[in-house]
Amino acid sequence: MPELPEVQSTIDALRHAGLPGEVIAAVEVGWPRTVGGDVDTFCGAVVGRSVCEIGRRGKFIVLCLTLAPRAATTEPASPGTANFVRSPDDSPGPERGWMLCHLRMSGRLHLVAADEPREGYERVVLHFASGRELRFVDPRKFGRLLCVSDPEAALSHLGLEPLDDSFTPRKLHQALGGRRRAIKPTLLDQGVIAGLGNIYVDEALFAARIHPLRRADSLSPDDIVALHTAIQQVLRLGLSNLGVSLGYGKSNFRLPNGASGDNREALQVFRRTGLPCPVCGHPVERLIVAQRSTHLCPRCQPA
Ligand SMILES: [Zn+2]
Repeated sequence: MPELPEVQSTIDALRHAGLPGEVIAAVEVGWPRTVGGDVDTFCGAVVGRSVCEIGRRGKFIVLCLTLAPRAATTEPASPGTANFVRSPDDSPGPERGWMLCHLRMSGRLHLVAADEPREGYERVVLHFASGRELRFVDPRKFGRLLCVSDPEAALSHLGLEPLDDSFTPRKLHQALGGRRRAIKPTLLDQGVIAGLGNIYVDEALFAARIHPLRRADSLSPDDIVALHTAIQQVLRLGLSNLGVSLGYGKSNFRLPNGASGDNREALQVFRRTGLPCPVCGHPVERLIVAQRSTHLCPRCQPA
C-alpha cells in the first residue's frame, strides 16, 4: 500500500513530467465508486479545467484545478477603438476546484500518451487536450478520486506531517501523550501522524529500537527523540529510493512512468521474517498487532 514516500514520489514524477498545465478535455469513468458514485458531478467538476498545481497532504494527492485558459480572442474592431486582446484574466477571478486522490491499497497514476496500450484496471482516465492521459489504475478498487471545494476542510482530520519543519520531538510527544494504545496502531492512525503505513512504521520502530506493542504513553523522552529521528530517516530514505514496490503482481506500486520504486532493498525488517536482523543477527520475527502484520527484531526491540 502506497505510503508517504510512494505518494510523494508519484507527485514529484507527475510534476516533472509536466502535469501542471494539462487541460482536461474529457473524462472516462470505468468504476463509478472510484469517484464517489456520481459520475456526472465528477465530470462536470473537472472537464474543461486545467491542472495548475499538484501537492500532498498525508497520503492524499491534491490536484488544484482552474478553469482552463481559453485561447485569447481578438475582439472585432469597433470604430474608434484599438484592437485589443482579451485575456482570460479579465474574467472575475479564476474559479478553483480541487481533486483529491487516495491510492489506498493498489492505486497508481500513469501519465502516458493516449495510444499507449491499457493494462485493464483503469478505473478513471483523464484525457488531456495535449493527447496525453492520466490513468488511475487500481486493481483492487479501493482508491478514490474526489472533487472538493475546500481541501483544508476535507483533510482536516489528518495529523502531523512528518517531513515538515513543524514536526519536532516536542510535537510528537504531544501527539502521543496520553494515548494508552500500543505505539504501532497509534503511528498508523492518520489523525496522529499523516502518511505512515505498515511498512514505514515497522521500519521506524526498528530503527528507534522500540517494541511495536509498547504503550504510546510509556515512551521516555529519549525514546521520543529516537522515534522522531527514525520516522524522518526511513521516510527520507524511501523518498530517495522512489518508494517501495513489493511484488504483488498487478497490485504492485509503480511510478507514473511504469517504473518500480527501489526501496525494497533498503528495508531492514519489513517482510524479512526469519532473515537475520541487520544489527544483531537474531532472526526477524513477525507478529500481528491490531490486525496488521508486524515485523521486528525481539532482541533489538525488547518488549
Ligand atoms: Zn536485532
